[in-house]
Amino acid sequence: MRTETKCLHSGYQPGNGEPLAMPIYQSTTYTYDSTDDIGKLFDLAAPGHMYSRISNPTVAMLEEKLADLEGGVGALCTSSGQMANLIAVLNIASQGDNIVCDSTIYGGTINLFAVTLERYGVHTNFIDLSKPDEEIQKCFDANTKAVLAETIANPALDVLDIERIANLAHKNGVPLIVDNTFATPVLCRPIEFGADIITHSTTKYLDGHAIQVGGVIIDSGNFNWDNGKFPGLIEPDASYHGVAYVRDFGKAAFITKARVQLMRDLGAYPQAMTAFLLNLGIETLHVRMERHCRNAERVAQYLAASDKVESVNYPGLEGNRFNALAKKYLPDGCSGVISFCIKGGKENAVKFMDSLKLAVNVVHVAAARTMVLHPASATHRQLTDEQLVAAGISPGMIRFSVGIENIDDIIEDIEQALNAI
Ligand SMILES: *Cc1c(COP(=O)(O)O)cnc(C)c1O
Repeated sequence: MRTETKCLHSGYQPGNGEPLAMPIYQSTTYTYDSTDDIGKLFDLAAPGHMYSRISNPTVAMLEEKLADLEGGVGALCTSSGQMANLIAVLNIASQGDNIVCDSTIYGGTINLFAVTLERYGVHTNFIDLSKPDEEIQKCFDANTKAVLAETIANPALDVLDIERIANLAHKNGVPLIVDNTFATPVLCRPIEFGADIITHSTTKYLDGHAIQVGGVIIDSGNFNWDNGKFPGLIEPDASYHGVAYVRDFGKAAFITKARVQLMRDLGAYPQAMTAFLLNLGIETLHVRMERHCRNAERVAQYLAASDKVESVNYPGLEGNRFNALAKKYLPDGCSGVISFCIKGGKENAVKFMDSLKLAVNVVHVAAARTMVLHPASATHRQLTDEQLVAAGISPGMIRFSVGIENIDDIIEDIEQALNAI
């Protein structure tokens, strides 16, 4: 099946007389005939659901669809995008370890790594991954366990050179984790370019309707964990009578460990109803992404031609410094998210935003409706001036998330708001 067809059909194919829509299994637990059956589940000696903190049949169908869409061997859904990135890192890094991370990533992830994870002894080396290999190489040491970056950075919109950074990570014996939230598997499948682990905030385009927070981790199954750097995946797990993940689960070692060890202990698994709603969003993902891209291209061109606008940042625009990478990794479009700076700095940015009538002023991005946000006073408010510059954010920058409304209505709204300043 191709991507568009997978959006509808992967994960659940009803048999004769079964419901067409993915069923909601709203249950905390599952019944078995004998204590021996349940014992085998606890030893990971037999497959099956036992408790909905670890797995659930409805969520499992969604996980199969997401793994299939990204080209991975398995997926684990989480209660938020934050939890997806946290578990992806904690699954391979512990106290005394470090990760290399793109400095232009989402502000919430910067906070999570720079402040919270730091307190628990996992250090993050932030660096702009558009820099040359030699400079990035200086961030690695013997305790580095992963490289993490976003396909299209939120909100700087830098496009990651996935192939180059994957090669660099592999040369250092560590996996590349790619947060593919803005691109979605419709626009880019980073595993095809060498990424090892994929994460998403499903809260954004995958859900698409701004109705629920969620996340997912997808394992490519391609990384060789048996290189001496990842004892947690090789050595016996005392909490499972000596299960060894690579030995016992092969290509699915990483994603199995994330579920049965970290998800079991941290308990951030989504509910069946949530999975049902997310699946509904994904069924139309391919149609929505196409419209988001076409509308955003028109808005970017309109803004670039306006004399009230100082600069427009959209990797799909000719002349953008990431345009060549966008052509390689995002041939069908660069999503609906644009950022731009209005002449007159923060004051005019705020005036413009408050004058919009159709576009809504919200702490959200990447959903069906056109939405606008001022990162410096919202999502990236906790960042220092230094971190703001590193994340590619200026005080007057506006993040404009182009929706799937009629393009003339969107542009007319922008036009009247620009005229108001
Ligand atoms: C929103 C976002 C996150 C965090 O996801 P939540 O679902 O809000 O927890 C992580 N990465 C990126 C790129 C995001 O846009």
